[in-house]
Amino acid sequence: MSYVLSCIATEHNPFLVALAALMCVVGAWISFSLFRRARDTRGSTRLGWLFLNGMASGAAVWCTHFIAILAYETPLGLKIDPFLTVLSLVLAIVGTGIGFGMASSGWGRFAPEAGGALVGAAIAGMHYLGMSALDVEGFVEWTPSMVAASVALAVGLGALSLNRAMRPLTRWCHHGAAGVFFLAVVSLHFTGVAALTITPLAPVNPGQQPALWALAFAVAGVGTLVIGMGVVTALIDLRTRSLADADRVRLSTSDPLTGLGNRSQFNRALEEGCSWADASNGQFCVVLVDFDDFKSINQLRGYSAGDAFLSAIGARVMEGLQSGEAGMRLGGDEFVVVKRLSGNGSLQDFLDRLRALFTDSVRASGTALSCPACMGVAIYPDHGLSSSDLLANVGLALARAKQDKLSPVQFCDTVMDAAEKARRTLGVLLRGVVERGELVVQFQPQFDLDTGTISGAEALLRWTHPVLGSVSPADFIPVAEESGQIVAIGEWVLREACRHAAAWPKPLKVAVNLSAVQLRQADLPERVSAILQETGLPVGRLELEVTETSLMADPERSVAVLRRLRETGVSIALDDFGTGYSALASLQVFSFDRLKLDKSFAGDLAQSKEARAILKTVLMLGQSLSIPVLAEGVETEPQAAFLRAAGCPTVQGFLYSRPLSDEALCAMIAEQDEAGFRAAVGHG
Ligand code: C2E
Ligand code: CA
Ligand code: CA
Repeated sequence: MSYVLSCIATEHNPFLVALAALMCVVGAWISFSLFRRARDTRGSTRLGWLFLNGMASGAAVWCTHFIAILAYETPLGLKIDPFLTVLSLVLAIVGTGIGFGMASSGWGRFAPEAGGALVGAAIAGMHYLGMSALDVEGFVEWTPSMVAASVALAVGLGALSLNRAMRPLTRWCHHGAAGVFFLAVVSLHFTGVAALTITPLAPVNPGQQPALWALAFAVAGVGTLVIGMGVVTALIDLRTRSLADADRVRLSTSDPLTGLGNRSQFNRALEEGCSWADASNGQFCVVLVDFDDFKSINQLRGYSAGDAFLSAIGARVMEGLQSGEAGMRLGGDEFVVVKRLSGNGSLQDFLDRLRALFTDSVRASGTALSCPACMGVAIYPDHGLSSSDLLANVGLALARAKQDKLSPVQFCDTVMDAAEKARRTLGVLLRGVVERGELVVQFQPQFDLDTGTISGAEALLRWTHPVLGSVSPADFIPVAEESGQIVAIGEWVLREACRHAAAWPKPLKVAVNLSAVQLRQADLPERVSAILQETGLPVGRLELEVTETSLMADPERSVAVLRRLRETGVSIALDDFGTGYSALASLQVFSFDRLKLDKSFAGDLAQSKEARAILKTVLMLGQSLSIPVLAEGVETEPQAAFLRAAGCPTVQGFLYSRPLSDEALCAMIAEQDEAGFRAAVGHG
């Protein structure tokens, strides 16, 4: 190899070597661009691309060879046989063309490598045919081992380059293939030249040099023309393809009749608009438009007039919209216009403009046509916290607008009460609450009424918003349920509760509240098992609380989920017992492990005879069904005394403890343990 390099450095004209290399680089790159087209097309188109491919690669290789030969600073007179020279060009074009064709043919497993080897062989053939076209005034001698090495290099690198082009691992392989092709040409050439030794027969004729230079430029010119043609073709192809792609995108998102967007574009605009409003604290307005009596245009003037009317309306809407607005036809005579609202006061102007765009008469089919339209308006996030809610609400608004002939523009909710507004605000603030770390779980201990010891604890969620402060779960849980966020939140609570409970000083039970939405998830048992496994809490220590209302929302599905949960070993408690309208029915559909008597009963014990009677009955019911009962909301000593006398085994309430942080609960458990120990050994 060192011989080859010194041969380039000392016996060649550097300028012409650079020209040859440039020719080869550009040629290789364009050949592989054309080859990619051939590879990705079929039939006669593929043959066309292969033809261009062969022309470009053959011409590039041939030009590189001849410029490099002319760069060889021989002290000898040099003549060139035109016939053999042209023949070598033809060989290069046909040989590489067939090689590239074979590589992309799909014939057999190793077609790419075989085709590549053929390309290499064609380059080598061209080189040696080209060499034999040279008539040197000297005695010519070849070194066979170098000749063999040059052919092997060309064939091997040729196979490698098409291997890379046909079996790419990354998107850079395409350039790698062209690079290897370049190496094949260059290494063949210089190894081939080095294989040659010439012993001069006569002195040099320096007058010949300028003619050779002219020849070099002529060759380069021809090569540039051929390769240039390839470049232009590839560029035209690229441009046509990108135009076709743009057309395809436009057709798939636009409505052919009006040129406005279609339904799929609307879906996208809706999602993007809501995300934009979230990110910029702005509002996103959706206006659904429907013509009142479009049918009569079709009936009285024919469908083509109807189409012409819609198309004229579409054109006017498209022209009349401003930045931040987009119009779409959803089908038939139903249109929708969306707008990103960032300032005040612009909404009314926008709606007035829309009314004019849709209801002023248009010229269609040679006459002036007009048709009254009604509009439903909804604004995100005021009228829906998700794009689907917004859509449902704007549909309702449109339906109202259609009924009320006097006010054809209807807002989703003209008067929204303050409570509703607050709920919507909460919904927005709740997004991402888990990720922001604004939630914590507290534990309210449950006590054995006889011994006064802690028997377990209920996990209760706490949300502290940076501005609103602490928000009651009674306020935000229903909002989270409505928007579906409760699934993620509930799973987080479960994981936190189990994680903490697993580290408590005593193996007490932990109770976690389940929402109705979670209860409808078919994979809830698997999720629960996964969390138990992840946190290491033994399954027997988890109790899930469900309310009667959530159970009865979809009893069949919920009971099926509860049964599967129970099979895994989790216990199930019925929460807020006695507040539903058919408490006994829920006891029939599922056999609970515990009844949690609603706190309203404990609260009413002092004043109400009925409450005392109901409480006794429930305790008896529990006893006869062998279901332990827990009384919630015990706040006073008299309530506790009554419950004790009535035989209630477990209680939970402010009298004993408020919900505590995990550390405080652990301290309480440890303290009780120590007191118990001291009592047992006769101290304290
Ligand atoms: P709940 O399941 O009935 O929880 C008991 C509620 O009663 C708790 O309110 C607790 O702080 C309160 N409480 C305990 N002892 C007394 C007492 O002696 N007197 C009075 N007046 N109240 C007492 P909190 O924590 O505000 O929770 C309210 C509701 O929010 C819960 O009612 C439960 O339905 C729901 N909730 C709380 N955490 C979660 C949760 O992680 N997931 C789900 N799905 N719901 C939860
Ligand atoms: Ca509960
Ligand atoms: Ca409860």
